[in-house]
Amino acid sequence: MPKPGESRVVPKTLPDFQQHFPNEETCIAHLYTKRFPTGFVCSYCEQHEADAGAPYSFASRPTVYRCRNCKRDTSLTAGTIMHRSNQPLSPGFGQPFS
Ligand SMILES: [Zn+2]
Repeated sequence: MPKPGESRVVPKTLPDFQQHFPNEETCIAHLYTKRFPTGFVCSYCEQHEADAGAPYSFASRPTVYRCRNCKRDTSLTAGTIMHRSNQPLSPGFGQPFS
């Protein structure tokens, strides 16, 4: 995660984009910081990870985080185009640039 004051280069083209996000892990990390800029917030009980603790995560479902407070799952891709796509995350993630 970039430190405060650190400038972050935003990719403008698909090749840039793929260089920035060469795999699903980096895509997920990016989605996570976009969705939870101040840390995980449960979509159900709205507990912040500062209060509830860092959410549980699962190796088999890398975009899903489980709230420690209410034990419900929040998906990083819920409500986005990727949620309905059966494609792997990385190519779908580049679509807006194609
Ligand atoms: Zn919760």
